[in-house]
Amino acid sequence: MTEVKIRPIKVWDEFKKVRAKYYKDISEAKEKGGLLWSGSGWSLANIPSGLGDDVYFLYGEPYAATLAWFKDYAAESQEYMDQIGVARDACSYLRVYWSSALRGTFILTDGTVVKYPEPNFYWTVHICDSHAKWYQHIAVRRGVPMKALDVCVGPGNQLNEKKIRYVVNQLHDSIKWMEKVTGREYSDELLIKRTYQALEYMCRWSRIVNYNKSVPAPIEEKSLFSFYTVFEGPWDKLEKEIQERVKKGLGALEGVEERGRILGDMQPPWPVLTEFYRYMEYKYGVNPIGSLYIYAIAGAWKALDEKGNFVWEPVKFEELLEKYELTNRDEALRATAETFLRHHGMWQTFYDSSFKRKAVLSMTEEWKADGMLLFMNRGCEGLAISQLDYYHALREKGFPVATWEGNFADPRDLDIPKIHHTIDTFMARLGINPLDSES
Ligand code: SF4
Repeated sequence: MTEVKIRPIKVWDEFKKVRAKYYKDISEAKEKGGLLWSGSGWSLANIPSGLGDDVYFLYGEPYAATLAWFKDYAAESQEYMDQIGVARDACSYLRVYWSSALRGTFILTDGTVVKYPEPNFYWTVHICDSHAKWYQHIAVRRGVPMKALDVCVGPGNQLNEKKIRYVVNQLHDSIKWMEKVTGREYSDELLIKRTYQALEYMCRWSRIVNYNKSVPAPIEEKSLFSFYTVFEGPWDKLEKEIQERVKKGLGALEGVEERGRILGDMQPPWPVLTEFYRYMEYKYGVNPIGSLYIYAIAGAWKALDEKGNFVWEPVKFEELLEKYELTNRDEALRATAETFLRHHGMWQTFYDSSFKRKAVLSMTEEWKADGMLLFMNRGCEGLAISQLDYYHALREKGFPVATWEGNFADPRDLDIPKIHHTIDTFMARLGINPLDSES
C-alpha cells in the first residue's frame, strides 16, 4: 500500500508557537496595560500600531476561522446564533465571532476557553457588505467605540489621486479618533516602521504562494493556512526552506509523485480541513496547491493591468521601497492606501465580475492546475460574488471544474461523505485512480 505523507516543514513548530503566543497575548493584553482592537482581517493593521508597541489586533476572520476549526465549539456557537435569531445565511464568520463576544468566551489555539477580551475599540475596513455591520453591531451591543473605513473607491487600474486621497484622509481622521478613544499619543515613527513591515509581509506572501507554480508544488494548501496572518513568524527560514524544495524538485507530498494539481476558489471548510485535504492527498496523491483565496487574500500582486487582466506577478518589495520614501505620517498613509488599493488581489475582485473571472482563468494556467473544486460556500456572500460566472467560463474553456456545497464555519453544514463522493467522482473525471487500486 502506498503511504503518502506531508513533507514536514522545519519551521512548523516555530510558527505554531508564535500563533499560540499571539492569541495568549491578545487574551491578556488589557490586563497587562496594553491595547486591544478588533476589526476585519482585511484592515490596514499597521495604522493602529502607531499607538504603541503593546497594541494587539484581534483579527476578525482569522479568529473566526480558529473558532470554526474547533468543530464542537463552532457547532455550539452556530446553535446559539440560531437561538438568538441571527439569519442562518448571514456571514458565518460573523456569526461565530458574535457568539464568542456575546457569550463572553474566547478560544486559544490549544482549545482552552478563556474570558472574551473586550477590545478597546473596533476599527475596520469596509469592502464586503458584512464588514462594517459586523463590528458596528457588536460595538453597540458591548458599548465599545467603533469606526469603519470606506475603501470602495474602485479597482486598482482606475485609481487616481482623488480616490487615494479619499482613503488617506479617512486614515488621518482614524488616527485622531484612535488617540481620542484610547487617550494615547500616536507615534509616526512607529507607524513608518510598521508600514514597511506590512508592505514587506504582503510582498513576501505573494512570493511564498508563487513558488507553488513549480511542479511539483513545494507546499500544499492546508499547510499554507498555518502560516498566513502570522506576521512576525520566522519568514526568512520558511522562504529558504521552500526555495530549497523548489531547487531540489521536492513536492509537498512524500511517498508519491504529484499525481494532480487541484485548485480551490473560496476559503476552506475549517471544521473539516483534515477530512477535506488529507482525503485527496492520501487517497489519490494529488496536491491541493492553493486557491484564489489563499493567493489573493494577503499578497501584493501586480493585479489589474489597463485592460482589466489580472497579472499574477508578485510585487517586489524593492519596487515599493523605491516608490515610497516614508518620512512622515502622510507618506506612510499614502503608501499604505495605494498599495492596498492597487495590489491587494482580493479587493479587486469585488468591483467587477470580469476581473474575478480573468483572475481565476489565468490562475488555472499560471499554477498549471489540472482541475478546480469550486466551493459554493453558504457562509460567505462576499467571496461568492460571481462564482457561477467563472464556473461557466471555466467550463467553456474546457477546464475541469466541480462544485460542492457547504458552510465554511458551520460543521452542521458540512457533509463529509458527500464531500468525499464529490472528490471521488471528480478524480474519476480527471482519470486519477485511487493509489490503492494501482498498488
Ligand atoms: S468576505 Fe465573506 S467571510 Fe468575509 S466578511 Fe464578507 S461574508 Fe464574511
